[in-house]
Amino acid sequence: MLLSKSFVPILKNNPSEAKIKSHQLMLRAGMIKQASAGIYSWLPLGFKIMKKIEEIVRQEQNKIGAQEILMPTIQSSDIWKESGRYEDYGEEMLRIKDRQNREMLYGPTNEEQVTEIFRSSLKSYKSLPQLLYHIQWKFRDEIRPRFGIMRGREFYMKDAYSFDVSDEEAFFSYNKFFLSYLRTFKRLALTAIPMAADTGPIGGNLSHEFIILADTGESKIFTDKRIFDLNSNDTELEKNSLQQMRNKFEQYYSVTDEKFNKEEFEKVVSEENRLITKGIEVGHIFYFGDKYSKAMGASVDLPGGKKDFVKMGSYGIGVSRLVGAIIEAKFDDKNEIMKWPLSVAPYDIALVPMVNKNDTSALDKAININKELIKNNIDALIDDTDENYSSKIKKMNLIGAPYQIIIGKKSEGDLLEFKEIGEETQNLSLAKIIEIIKKQKN
Ligand code: ATP
Ligand code: MG
Repeated sequence: MLLSKSFVPILKNNPSEAKIKSHQLMLRAGMIKQASAGIYSWLPLGFKIMKKIEEIVRQEQNKIGAQEILMPTIQSSDIWKESGRYEDYGEEMLRIKDRQNREMLYGPTNEEQVTEIFRSSLKSYKSLPQLLYHIQWKFRDEIRPRFGIMRGREFYMKDAYSFDVSDEEAFFSYNKFFLSYLRTFKRLALTAIPMAADTGPIGGNLSHEFIILADTGESKIFTDKRIFDLNSNDTELEKNSLQQMRNKFEQYYSVTDEKFNKEEFEKVVSEENRLITKGIEVGHIFYFGDKYSKAMGASVDLPGGKKDFVKMGSYGIGVSRLVGAIIEAKFDDKNEIMKWPLSVAPYDIALVPMVNKNDTSALDKAININKELIKNNIDALIDDTDENYSSKIKKMNLIGAPYQIIIGKKSEGDLLEFKEIGEETQNLSLAKIIEIIKKQKN
């Protein structure tokens, strides 16, 4: 792609309304454009990144056997009256009336809608477990939308729902999502820590928030540092193995604000392991048993002829928030260098030819290099403008393709001036560069 033809409206300076680095970068690199308070249009660069994140989230849901559906954004108030949440949800819910004067709403979450789908189709324990998810826009009329897409009013979320015959089976489903979340965030190059959390308006009593550390985060966390050394490698999708993995994480004290108890914290965590800091919530999982199935009459036939309400959990990931969360974790705002993890980078590599009006040989060379890159499935952005070197590099540093090739004096003959963004320059052949990138991609 040629930069001159791409819709990437870069800003030279930080817009004054942006208080945190993700919001600053997203505006400066032309990733989003505010439409109204807490509501954004996604421009090509930002949208491309979000779609890549979405795809990783989707793949990891599919890997645990969850099935993708798509529920509407607009819901009828009837099902919310059945669950009792129409009143309870309060002012965050955007209520709408259609031309027949029917009460509708823009979904802030989908427990009711999915329970309605389940109860009208499945009747037997033999169909369980069911893990259903969708990736859809949500609307919550947040009292203080801020930090750009981090706390928007309209935002993009993956929400999944599990249906099981017993608590034991439901914990198995819960643990599958626990594992899939660890895997998802790892592929996004984030360290997201599961923390015991309050269940809030969703209800229930078992819940974890997945939080990444960031000074600008809105969640206060209290944790035993040793939890950061854990991983979920080698966990099989099998009951015992999953429960052991969860136990491994739960052995360390790690909670958010609402669950914090000073006395307990100081008792169970030795002083050198205590960490009190802030983080960004990127995912949240809940188990709430029959809270919705009972209120809405979603039951299944059991083996002995009896009936019981299905046991449910729900599992959210903030797909749009993750774009900002990755920036908070990776953007070096002092040097104004963003380095996207290759898994979600808007481009794999930036080609920066030194172009001037009388001599297009560097640009020609870049275009030839790009042909070779395309053959190898490597997505490049070429700066074909005639701006000077330093402004070209500044722009590419904001866009954040993790690799760069500079085609100028130092890229004579077969050796190219290559660098991983923010690192030292190396002189390498194109074949070697392709090899490096392909290796990272796998
Ligand atoms: P928060 O505590 O940040 O308000 P929540 O607990 O209300 O979030 P959930 O209902 O658990 O959120 O939603 C699942 C995920 O959706 C959250 O973990 C978060 O990543 C994302 N999310 C929630 N609210 C917003 C929002 N206003 N803007 C962007 N993402 C959001
Ligand atoms: Mg939450």
